[in-house]
Amino acid sequence: MTRIKNSITYSKAKIQEYEAKYSRPIGSVNLLAVSKKHSADSIREAAKNGVINFGENYLQEACKKIDSLKSLGLIWHFIGPIQSNKTLKIATNFDWVQSIDREKIATKLNEHRQEHRTPLKVCVQINLSNEDSKSGISLEKAEELCLTVNNLANLELRGVMSIPTPELDFEKQRANFAELKNKFLELQKKFPGMDTLSMGMSGDFKAAIAEGSTMIRLGTAVFGPRA
Ligand SMILES: *Cc1c(COP(=O)(O)O)cnc(C)c1O
Repeated sequence: MTRIKNSITYSKAKIQEYEAKYSRPIGSVNLLAVSKKHSADSIREAAKNGVINFGENYLQEACKKIDSLKSLGLIWHFIGPIQSNKTLKIATNFDWVQSIDREKIATKLNEHRQEHRTPLKVCVQINLSNEDSKSGISLEKAEELCLTVNNLANLELRGVMSIPTPELDFEKQRANFAELKNKFLELQKKFPGMDTLSMGMSGDFKAAIAEGSTMIRLGTAVFGPRA
């Protein structure tokens, strides 16, 4: 468990270092700890060390942890692919959904989010043309989906999320993130409530910070390898 504490200290120091290096305001990059395949105890340890935002991909696993950690007041982000029969549980158990990639999912999440609660905060997931993954909407169609989401009363459009193809080379990583940043800036003009550019994982978060990420999603860097 001291490993998690040390990893968080190290990650936060790196975030600050790269914020400074790329003239980003200190504190402008938020840390989302991706806790999929890690235990409730590991999450508790991360929370003890100041992490508030957690990301999960697998619904059943996530709901158990969310339930057992209720008293901690954590903020939960769903970041995995979404099947439409899972939208009820996602809309009731999570605070954020970052992986909206089609209208049907947006509409269903909106239907299932209870009106007396604060709207579900959402990001549209963008798939850059060079990605292998099937998740995410194309750059070209992102605006139309944002428009749909923006018109749904129980959803609050906050930004975009993406998982570019992993690259080892820093400049190649930056080039992908730059494309996303440009799209984000364009969308932000039309949807001024957007404040979240969720990009960068353990292997490429430095390049993501260089290109304007406001939320990096760290799994391995915080919790170690997944089983
Ligand atoms: C698993 C996952 C991460 C974390 O990946 P690491 O490489 O372990 O940091 C981030 N974002 C999404 C969407 C993921 O599924």
